[in-house]
Amino acid sequence: MPKEILVEKLANLAVKIGANVQKDQIVVVNAPIEAADIARKVVKSAYEAGAKKVTIFWRDEISGRYSYEYETIETLSDIPQYSIDRMRYFVDNGACVVSIVSPIPGANKGVDPSKIQAAGIASSKALGFYREHMMGNRSQWTIIAASNPIWAKKVFPNMDEAEADEALWQAIFNASRVNETTDPIEEWNKHNKSLIDHNKILNDYQFESLHFTNSLGTDLTIKLVDNHVWSGGQEKATTGVVFNPNIPTEENFTMPHKYGVNGKVVATKPLDYQGNLIEDFWLEFKDGKVVNYDAKKEKSTLKNLIEFDEGSSYLGEVALISYNSPISQANILFFNTLFDENASCHLALGRAYPMNIKGGTSMDIKELEKYGYNNSMSHSDFMFGSEDMNIVGFKKDGTKVQIFKDGNFVI
Ligand code: ZN
Ligand code: ZN
Repeated sequence: MPKEILVEKLANLAVKIGANVQKDQIVVVNAPIEAADIARKVVKSAYEAGAKKVTIFWRDEISGRYSYEYETIETLSDIPQYSIDRMRYFVDNGACVVSIVSPIPGANKGVDPSKIQAAGIASSKALGFYREHMMGNRSQWTIIAASNPIWAKKVFPNMDEAEADEALWQAIFNASRVNETTDPIEEWNKHNKSLIDHNKILNDYQFESLHFTNSLGTDLTIKLVDNHVWSGGQEKATTGVVFNPNIPTEENFTMPHKYGVNGKVVATKPLDYQGNLIEDFWLEFKDGKVVNYDAKKEKSTLKNLIEFDEGSSYLGEVALISYNSPISQANILFFNTLFDENASCHLALGRAYPMNIKGGTSMDIKELEKYGYNNSMSHSDFMFGSEDMNIVGFKKDGTKVQIFKDGNFVI
C-alpha cells in the first residue's frame, strides 16, 4: 500500500479520534511547512467530518530562527494585539485544535537562549488564556507527528536521508496503530477501551503503594497520594465531547507521594536532556528525594537535571506501559516525548499533574501539597520498564495484588 494512503489514514485518525471534530465546529490546524502534505489531508478530513471552518497556521522553524537572530529582545517580547485577538476568537467560538509536530533538531543551535526564553515568556503570558482553555480541556485538542528528513537522520543516523525518512514514517505509523490491513479508528476504539479499563481497575484498588522489581536491580517502592486518579488515553472535554490528546499514547499514569518513594531504580533507555544523552543511569531515593545516582555517560547532565530546583529531585509521575506495546517493541529513540515517553514504564522527576488527584484541577498549590503533590519548573520523564518488570500493588489493608508480571499487565 502506498505511503500516501497511510498518511491519509493518520490524518483521518487525528480528526475523528484525536480531536473528534464535531459537526459545524471550527477547527484550527497547527502545522510546520515540512508537514504540508499531511496537514492538507487533515484540513480535508476535518471538512468531511462536518467542520464549519478550518484555519491552518503554518510554522517554519528556519524563518523562526531568523526572527530570533535579527529581532531585538524587545520586539520578540512584544506580542501584537491581533495575534491575541485571533486566539480569543477561537476560544470564544469553541474551536478544536489539531497540532502536527515535526521537529527540526538543531534549528535554533547557537541562538542566544535568553531571546528564546524572553519570546517564550511573553507569548505564554499574552496567550495564557488560550493555553488554559485547551489544557483545561474546555475544547478538544490533539497532537500527531509527521516525519521530516532532518529529524529522521537523527533517529536513524546510519541511513541516508530518504531511507531514514521512510523508516521514521513507518515507525510513526506503527506507533500510531495505523497500518495497511486494519481500520485505525477501530484499533483506537479497542486501544482506548483497554486504557480506560486499566484506569478503572487501578482507580478502584486505590493502592497505597506500588513495588517495582526486575533483574537489572530496580527495587523501588512508590507510595501513591490519597484519592489519586489514574489517567491515560481518551479524555472528556468540559463540553462532553471525548477526544485523544496524544496520538500515540500508551500510558496509565498517576501521582506518587512526594515524600513516599524509597529504593533504587535502574533506567532502561537513554534520556535526552537539553541536547545531551544520559546513558546507563540509576537513581536511589530516600523519603522521596534522590539521595544517590550514577550514569555511565553524562553524569553531570543528570546532576543538572536533578538539581534544577527543589522539586526536580522528587517524583511527579509514575506511568505504566506494557512491554508488548508497539512503541516499546520498536525499540527506537525518537528524541521526542510524544513517542519516547510511551516506550516503557516511566517516572518523571519534577512537577506532578493536578488532574491525578480527585478534584485536583480546582485546588491551589498549597492544598495539592497537603496530599503530597510535587511542584517544580521541570518535568523530565525517564524510562525504566523492562521485559521482566514485576509490579505489586499494596492495598491499605495490607493485601497484595500483582499488577505486572514479566513486563505486562496481568490485571
Ligand atoms: Zn507520562
Ligand atoms: Zn511525563
